Amino acid sequence: MTSWPIIGHTWAVDLLARSIKSGHISHAYLFTGPEGVGKTTLARVFAQALLCEGEEPSCGECRSCRHVAAGVHPDMRLVEPQEGLLRVEQVREVTREVSRRPVEARRRVFILTHMERAHPAAANALLKTLEEPPAHVVIILTAPAEEAILSTLVSRCRVMALRPVPEEEIRRALEERWGEPPERARLLARLSGGRPGWAIRAREDEAFWALRDTAFDLVATFAQNGTRWVRLEAAEQWSRADREKRETLLSLLQLIYRDTLVIQEGEPDAIRNVDKEEVLAEWAERFPRDKVREFIRRLMDVQQYMQKNINVRLALDVLFLSAPR
Ligand SMILES: [Zn+2]
Repeated sequence: MTSWPIIGHTWAVDLLARSIKSGHISHAYLFTGPEGVGKTTLARVFAQALLCEGEEPSCGECRSCRHVAAGVHPDMRLVEPQEGLLRVEQVREVTREVSRRPVEARRRVFILTHMERAHPAAANALLKTLEEPPAHVVIILTAPAEEAILSTLVSRCRVMALRPVPEEEIRRALEERWGEPPERARLLARLSGGRPGWAIRAREDEAFWALRDTAFDLVATFAQNGTRWVRLEAAEQWSRADREKRETLLSLLQLIYRDTLVIQEGEPDAIRNVDKEEVLAEWAERFPRDKVREFIRRLMDVQQYMQKNINVRLALDVLFLSAPR
């Protein structure tokens, strides 16, 4: 078994490590999976192994490995969207570099993340390169799913679909590698939904924890005070909030009501918000089960509508008015 510095995805690591040993390396890879599951991390450690000068790639100790880890290796490039968009200029720069010989290593490795955010012209520019890549080049793309990018791009890549990582592996890694206390490691692993990258980022993301408190406060308000006015005021406030923040709040609310339902259905060990067992049990007792289920369905609908340009205020009004009391 290969030990690359990544949580989970053993099959992918083994497969990639074997391909380096046997020399059967593809020119283009596409790593798919949910945000935070480990696509970019896998791409980085694969790049490190591809460029490693040691006996057992990646050794983590040779000059090349150290340079990749520090992000200064001249033969590796990581390209990420700027202000949410992967621009054609960024891809053109890559296509120019692709044709040049490696500076230090035998290969050049390019990682382009979030291909689903590529401008159509950028995707087309990349397509030309993928049609006839020079022998020394390896290009790694990431996207949430195959369907999220041009099918002509997908067909030129070796696709590797990363699945959520077992919670237990994430919990252990958080304790052993990141020194998280056991209770906190358990909570983070539970909330992560199998996404180690999410868990690692959330450790120090104070805004996330504050928002989670807000979500719990909101449910408590809905539970205690059913007045129309309070609910509409909350809807008003959240319709004006930053989009990303609002989306996170809605997914946190979904998780809370899901936990409530899980307790109502007799599976209290399956809750994600493991530190809030008490209040969740109280809500599970008080809220009618069909209302909770109905609210979760509405919540998911609103989350979907939010992707389009709907009237946010109106959607939240209707949603918050229907929250169980
Ligand atoms: Zn090395």
